[in-house]
Amino acid sequence: MKAAVFKGAGQPLAVEEKPDPTPGQRQLVVAVDYCGICGTDLHSTREGPAMLPCDSVLGHEFVGEVVALGANLEAGWEKGDRVCALPFISCGKCAACLAGRPFECLSLGCIGLDQPGGFAEYVTTCEHNTLKLPDQLSTLDAALIEPLAVGLHAVRVGGLKAGQRVLITGAGPIGLAVALWARFMGARDVVVSEPAEDRRALALSMGATAVVGVGDTLGEQFADVAGGPPDVLFECVGAPGLIQQCIELAPRGGMLVPVGVCEQPDTILPFPALIKELAIQFAIAYTRADYETVISMLAQGRIDASAMVTGVVSLDEMPAAFDALRTPSDQCKVLTRLR
Ligand SMILES: [Zn+2]
Ligand SMILES: [Zn+2]
Repeated sequence: MKAAVFKGAGQPLAVEEKPDPTPGQRQLVVAVDYCGICGTDLHSTREGPAMLPCDSVLGHEFVGEVVALGANLEAGWEKGDRVCALPFISCGKCAACLAGRPFECLSLGCIGLDQPGGFAEYVTTCEHNTLKLPDQLSTLDAALIEPLAVGLHAVRVGGLKAGQRVLITGAGPIGLAVALWARFMGARDVVVSEPAEDRRALALSMGATAVVGVGDTLGEQFADVAGGPPDVLFECVGAPGLIQQCIELAPRGGMLVPVGVCEQPDTILPFPALIKELAIQFAIAYTRADYETVISMLAQGRIDASAMVTGVVSLDEMPAAFDALRTPSDQCKVLTRLR
């Protein structure tokens, strides 16, 4: 099969021939239709603690069709089933796996990180982390299930309640997904802080009730459009200094949900958070229930995230598109089409 392969920091991905995968026990092989490029992919191909070894195949936001069935499958899988998957190779037997929380499994492998990913013609999944797509759900829309599940999970762990005021920093795919779900859950104000003009427009089309800029006046800008301070703050950028800024903007008893991936030291001053008895709840990944909710809402047409997709490229075009995403541009979610 053809796959886009990581060749080291500073090198473009290389489209190479790799052996076709064969499914292990309780595994499926999926022919990939689309695989989205994610900020995590960019992080893990940069010099730093999260950098992957040479010859890794990335991609965890894939959808496709089952083409090979492993031994001892428990559910009634058939070749041709349209599927997506939580990108985890997990044991399927421990309490976390059985509860639909494979991210907490002790024998966890992550597809697209330490296991071969979806920027390839075929990818191997675990049956217990694989979900069938309803007929009403287009494969293209299904390619957004993973980032939408990240947003839903953040909103769930943040305990967002209808009527609350919400601030979201950053209108990248995750900030946009959080905006979509915050609105869906009945937030009174969904305010996105973002400097880039095209992303501000995207935020408004995906659920933000207002967009504001960044910087020292963020608190006043928020109060101007929402009439009070934010009850729940979602930090979706992952740059040093933003958690501190959110601590300062939060009211007494507020909730701060850091979702952005920050790999650098980030100093905070705890005192203002202490005085406010602020809750700080980090959010990562998703559960099977998050995936099921996203699939159901997409299939019923109750959410629409298609505006997030700003490009679709072939596997051969993908390495250049991948590197282009390292510098700010008008691109948001770029999908690789494999077939
Ligand atoms: Zn992702
Ligand atoms: Zn497990």
